[in-house]
Amino acid sequence: MKLTEIFEKNRPSLSFEVFPPKTSDGFDSVKEATEKIAALSPSYMSVTYGAGGTTKGYTVKIAENIQKKYNVPTLSHLTCVSVTKELLRETADELKSAGIENILALRGDIPKDMNEVKTDYKYASEIIADIKSLGDFCVGGACYPEGHVESKNFTEDIMNLKIKTDAGCDFLTTQMFFDNNIMYNFLYRIREAGITVPVVAGIMPVTNGRQISRICSLSGTYLPRRFKTIVDKFGENTEAMTKAGIAYATEQIIDLIANGVNHIHVYSMNKPEVASGIKENLKGII
Ligand code: FAD
Repeated sequence: MKLTEIFEKNRPSLSFEVFPPKTSDGFDSVKEATEKIAALSPSYMSVTYGAGGTTKGYTVKIAENIQKKYNVPTLSHLTCVSVTKELLRETADELKSAGIENILALRGDIPKDMNEVKTDYKYASEIIADIKSLGDFCVGGACYPEGHVESKNFTEDIMNLKIKTDAGCDFLTTQMFFDNNIMYNFLYRIREAGITVPVVAGIMPVTNGRQISRICSLSGTYLPRRFKTIVDKFGENTEAMTKAGIAYATEQIIDLIANGVNHIHVYSMNKPEVASGIKENLKGII
């Protein structure tokens, strides 16, 4: 099933993100965690991709398993970093044989230990048209309500996002944010710029204080004072932080849906307890 069919219904949807193992050793435990999340019957699940192709085969295997065993549509991530035109053709064939119809096309972050990166694509927008020419895929892209870290300014970032949607991107998924007003402002700005595709809100239920502080300092994500106080208080206690993180994410999601942002993607990070906590809290809402 193409994700555009879900978005067209214009009813709230809830999806979960998982990541593949880095090596074969971790495959069984990741498979088990992703199956527990798939058993919650989300609208779809996305499977990330290690930039540089480090998890290439596993991304497709995990997505294929979820889709075949649980009938949950999947979105397979794919990064430009280290992808040549030939490799893209092979990957498209692999995805088609696995029955995967949805691809999140990303540039990826260049790994520090990669000396020589061979790629035919510089930006995510460049790979989208080629993916589309290789099969009947529904293709999504990433977007950044607070601007991408490398962008000179927000206006330029939105102009680059327009290039991405003009290249055929069918929908966008946001980077995590913790202040919904940032998302509402972003939506206003991109609609004004003529970007009309569905935008899925990416929500991260925080379970680890140190980790979120590091991610926020790298990505420039704003932590509102109210949430920062929660992280300061519970960040070192995994059980307490998980509960507080799920509660905060739930509140964000309810506010988003109340304001017409219907499609929610939860960065569930292979944690079935996080996915089920969110799903349970939203019973009757989504
Ligand atoms: P692009 O859209 O190519 O943008 C990158 C930068 O270049 C931006 O600053 C943009 O403004 C600028 N730019 C874009 N087009 C142009 C142009 N034509 N001319 C000049 N400048 C331009 N990473 C992974 O490695 N694996 C994953 O699975 C993964 N999943 C993700 C899922 C989501 C929802 C999000 C939000 C991010 C994900 N990432 C993933 C991280 C992502 O790869 C990085 O944020 C990366 O730095 C940018 O990727 P992009 O696709 O947004 O890049």
